[in-house]
Amino acid sequence: MTSSAAPYLPGRHLLQVPGPTNVPQPVLEAIARPTLDHRGPGFAALALSVIEGMKRVFRTTGPVVIFPGSGTGAWEACLVNTLSPGDKVLNPETGQFSVLWGQLATQLGLEVESLPSDWRHAIDIEALRTRLGADDKHEIQALLITHNETSVGTLSDVAAIRGVLDDLGHPALLFVDAVSSLGSIDYRHDEWGVDVTVAGSQKGLMLPPGMSFNAISQKALDRQSSAKLPRAYWEWKPYLELNKNGFFPYTPSANLMAGLEVAIGLLEAEGFENIFARHIRHGEATRAAVHAWGLETQCADEAAYSPVVTAVRMPDGYAEAEFRKVVLDSYGMALGSGLGQVAGKVFRIGHLGDFDDLTLVAALAGVELSLGRADVPHKDGGVAAALAVLAAAR
Ligand code: PLP
Repeated sequence: MTSSAAPYLPGRHLLQVPGPTNVPQPVLEAIARPTLDHRGPGFAALALSVIEGMKRVFRTTGPVVIFPGSGTGAWEACLVNTLSPGDKVLNPETGQFSVLWGQLATQLGLEVESLPSDWRHAIDIEALRTRLGADDKHEIQALLITHNETSVGTLSDVAAIRGVLDDLGHPALLFVDAVSSLGSIDYRHDEWGVDVTVAGSQKGLMLPPGMSFNAISQKALDRQSSAKLPRAYWEWKPYLELNKNGFFPYTPSANLMAGLEVAIGLLEAEGFENIFARHIRHGEATRAAVHAWGLETQCADEAAYSPVVTAVRMPDGYAEAEFRKVVLDSYGMALGSGLGQVAGKVFRIGHLGDFDDLTLVAALAGVELSLGRADVPHKDGGVAAALAVLAAAR
């Protein structure tokens, strides 16, 4: 067998980037089943089951569109189906992914206003209230909210943001990127009055990359007829028509859909409350380790800690890329890099998806051993501190 992959290392490769995440064996087996004819009845039954399942995951009764594409495509789909050139959107900055979504909106011809931040806190609800309150002409057509900011490990409060819009009677559409929260962190599309939720296959849904989603409110659906941004591949309309019978306007990711059906079954068998609690526990244990090492998390607000990813600040003068290379070469574990303005300054430990206590302990042990190997100044005892959190939680 030939492969361009790195030389074989014995033992299990730990994929501890915050997405793509480890894919469970039953999901891999489903993906490996023979590809179905996407215009045949077997596929239609699968698609209808997956679409209904995804509505339960998003907690919506509205439509969910499933694209063959990445999360970035689903960002674009959300915007082009609802907005027109020159429309103003407000983009509270939380980290690199919020910035990238704003850049994409600018490239599409929208007028993007950012709400700056230090990349160490969640969205500032009072700053948002002040800005929206000053918009008495309701020029802001939409908010672009990143729920879990994967680049820095902060979680913003979508329900509170909905509350601000409601308090002010502001009609802006509420768009939420749940790419790294859906399936791992409590998320409620309908209850929080979200107009479009954007998600991807490769994080909490425990699938390989390659599929992305829009969950859509009635208000967002109604905007399709007035929205003038050019759209073709990402147009919702043909999906909404054909999906009624389990079909798609072009070739869907049939094998990933087979995997998704199994993944939804796994999520529901574990139970969403249990899954959310597991991620919170793993976040707490990881932060206990980081603090015991004497290192700092990039998130500086306890109330905004992400349950799915912890970004760790490197001590001054130490490069994260070199440290991650030591981790990969020595222990076969992939950690996330620093992105955007924190490139070189943080490494990220993903603790989401198909993940358990012992895998977390192994991942943290790999970090602790590598801090020693790479001569990064730190204290011992991080793994022990994490174990104490896990033991107490049980
Ligand atoms: N939004 C968030 C919060 C992400 O974490 C990512 C990717 O990691 C994206 C959007 C972009 O998704 P993709 O890389 O699948 O296009």
